[in-house]
Formats: sequence, structure tokens, C-alpha cells
Amino acid sequence: MYAGDTIAAVATATGAGGIGIIRVSGPLSTAIAARVFAPSATAAKWESHRLYHGQLRAADGHVLDEGLAVVMRGPRSYTGEDVIELHCHGSPVLLRRALSEVLRCGARLAEPGEFTRRAFLNGRLDLAQAEAVLDLVRARTAAGAALAAQQLGGRLSEHLAGLRAYLTDLKALIEVQIDFSEEEVDISASQLLSTIDKCLVTIQDLINTFERGAILRDGLRAAIVGKPNVGKSSLLNALLGEDRAIVTAVAGTTRDTIDETADFDGVPVVLSDTAGLRDPERADALERLGIERTAAKIAQAQVLLKVLDAAAPLDEEDFAVLKAAAATPQVVVLNKIDLPQVISEQEVRRSADGHIVSVSATKRQGLAGLRRAVIGQWFNGDGPTAQAPVLANVRHRDALEKARHALALAREAICHGHPLELAAVDVQDAIDHMGTITGKVTSEDVLDQIFSEFCIGK
Ligand code: GDP
Repeated sequence: MYAGDTIAAVATATGAGGIGIIRVSGPLSTAIAARVFAPSATAAKWESHRLYHGQLRAADGHVLDEGLAVVMRGPRSYTGEDVIELHCHGSPVLLRRALSEVLRCGARLAEPGEFTRRAFLNGRLDLAQAEAVLDLVRARTAAGAALAAQQLGGRLSEHLAGLRAYLTDLKALIEVQIDFSEEEVDISASQLLSTIDKCLVTIQDLINTFERGAILRDGLRAAIVGKPNVGKSSLLNALLGEDRAIVTAVAGTTRDTIDETADFDGVPVVLSDTAGLRDPERADALERLGIERTAAKIAQAQVLLKVLDAAAPLDEEDFAVLKAAAATPQVVVLNKIDLPQVISEQEVRRSADGHIVSVSATKRQGLAGLRRAVIGQWFNGDGPTAQAPVLANVRHRDALEKARHALALAREAICHGHPLELAAVDVQDAIDHMGTITGKVTSEDVLDQIFSEFCIGK
């Protein structure tokens, strides 16, 4: 659905702000600028990419606001079409009014993501870059934003283009072999196989970056577990830096799970405070519900913060916590170190592997070390700033898995001495799957799905 008509929307966030921007794209843009905006310098010629000061006016000449306007003629614009931006004061009422004037001049309201969709359709961005726009707008931490910016800058697309070119060469090699088999153009099966293997390794390396990439994009899922009253809610609040969960001295009161995102040295961490890991037999119905949810949170967690009360002797419930989900990366948190210590790190170490960090949630001591330990379960200081291309999007990962699978089929066909035509088809499949990432091969449905996640005005 690429209409090529003129679209308009408020591009700035809803709510009051210093400045609000209306963006318009399409063939009527410049005509609309001339109708709704009167530059202060009357001789202004609406040069492209030049900011004009003036008045935003309604059709009847009524002045709505004083502001700035810029015309960016295509193809040197975000969408590749003629684009105008009207900058006025960030009042929602004013912006609505100004937008309705723009619509009255012949534009229609843009669909979500339609500006970026046009940028893609006009070749200003590839699909992976368009998705990075959304990731950048939504990024929750500096590292997430840096990853999106890297993808927007084309780092991933370049890497994929290289890989695709390599596969295209491989296909050409196979085709030469098919066409000239009688003339003995000598490319041995082992040569083809080693080329395929190199591609498989490169694809696998990229797929392997996904888990960490997804963490930077969507957040590391961390669950705070421990028996009631060890200070889980207090720890959550301390890590978030504000009071959100109910903190109380009555055991078993954090009945539900609460998710909040905190910034751990640039990495977004989605923290869930869980109900205490109590024995379901001893819990009432509401608590049992909390216990079930806790079990689900633990199963989904990528890292566990197992909290112990350092001021009370370890008991059976603590040992159960230490033993739970042993395969999940974890950090043992010895809390309440501001109180006289009853248990030591050495004692805990006898029952738990891995990192032990001593903190006081209420006095906010040891939290920086805890943040480092949590991140350290996934990144060894290299992750968030890595320059290598990183996958962060499930759609990209799935496409690469399919490409890898197709390539593995090609490999098998060659190994078994099947006709090379079959391998050529598999390699073409791999090329096509890779092409879906950047949008070289795509469908309206996929585009609809991707751009529907955008907000209007983007
Ligand atoms: P939860 O049931 O594990 O979520 O525990 P809470 O966070 O509700 O804390 C239980 C009690 O321990 C509250 O009275 C907290 O104020 C107290 N508490 C939590 N952390 C600390 C700490 O680091 N030091 C001290 N002295 N008390 C703490």
C-alpha cells in the first residue's frame, strides 16, 4: 500500500513540551508549507533544508503560533519525498489545531510508521535499518540505544550484504559446475563444501550474538528470589532507586510479581520481585497463586538474584532457594550487612556456586558491585560496547536460522552426491531468507506487521 499521497502527523511525543513538530511528506508538502506558514522575511523562496522563522496561520489568516519551518525536497529527505516540518510550541491543543489546518490543505493523517515505511520503499533505509529506528526510539538504556544506532548506521546490513554476496558467488560456482560438468570445469565437491562451511560458521557466529543483543534491546530478565522478609522488595526499590513495591515487615506480603526496568551500567535489566519461595503446603490460596507466578518468573529468568538475610541463620527455606534453578546464572545476595552478621560468605559458599555479593538494601551499600555481578553473568565487559554486528531482533534471528537450515540442506545434497541443481535451489533459499532481513525479499504482510508497531509520526 504505497499511495504516494501526502501524509501528515505530529512527530513529537504527546503531552506538553518546549517544542512540537508537525511532519508532512508527499507531493503537496511545499504547497502546504506556503499555505499554513508565513515566513517573516517576505522575500523567502523556500530553499530546501533551510529553516525559516515566521507565523503558523489558519486558512482564515488567523495566527496560531510563531515558529520555524523547513522544507526538505526529495530525494534528500527522511522519506525520500518532499518533506516539511513545522516547529511550534509544544502545546497539544495547538498541535492538533495546526495539524487540522495541514489536513485541510490536502494531506491525510499518516498511519503508524508510515514515514519510515516510505523511507524504506524509497530506498532511503533498508528494513533492518527501519526496524532500528523503532528500537532507537524505544531504547531504555545507553547500550540499547548504541546497538540500535549501530544497526541504523548500517553495520548489520553491511555484514549481511557481505554474507549474501558470498552465497551468491557460491551459487554461481555451483551453476558453473552444472553448466560445464561435461567440460570438466574442475571445482571439487570438497571446494564447494568448504565454502559452504565458511558461510555456516559466519551465520552461526551471528546467530550466537542474538541472546546478548536481545538483552540489550529488550532487557535482561532478572528475578529476585528468596524466602519472605529477607529484603527482596527493599532490594528492588534500592536497585530502582525509588519506592515502588510494598515493603513491610510481615512475612509473605509481596504476593504478586512486579516488573520494572533498571539501568545496570547501560544494560536494561527487567527486575521482577517475586513472592517468597515458601512451601506451598503452608501457604494460603492467595499466596499459592504468588508462588505459582514466582515459579513462572524463575523459569523465564535469565539471571536470579537469590537473596539471603545475613543477620539470621540459614534455614531450610534458604537452602531450598540456593538449590532452586541451579542451571540459571545467579548471584547470591547477602542482604542486611548493616546489621550484626550471623552468616558469612564462606558459609554460603558451601551451599552455592558462583558470585556472592554482600549488600544492605536499606542503607544502599554494595549495590554497584551487585549490578556488576548481575551483568557479569552475561557480559564480560565486552558486550555493551562491542563493535561487531549484533543481532537483536527475533525476526532477524529466525531468518538466519532458516538460511542456515537451507545451507545445511545444500551441504547434505553435495555430500550425498545428489544432482547439483538441488544444492543450487537450497543456496538460493538461503540467499532469499537472508534477503528478508534487509527487505530485499519481503511481503506486504511482513511490512504491515513491522510498521504497525511504530507510533504515528515516525
Ligand atoms: P521481602 O519479604 O523479602 O520482600 O522483604 P522486605 O523488603 O519487605 O523487607 C523485610 C524487612 O526487612 C523490612 O522491615 C525491611 O525494612 C527490612 N530490610 C530489608 N533490607 C534490609 C537491610 O538491608 N537492612 C536492614 N537493617 N533491614 C532491611
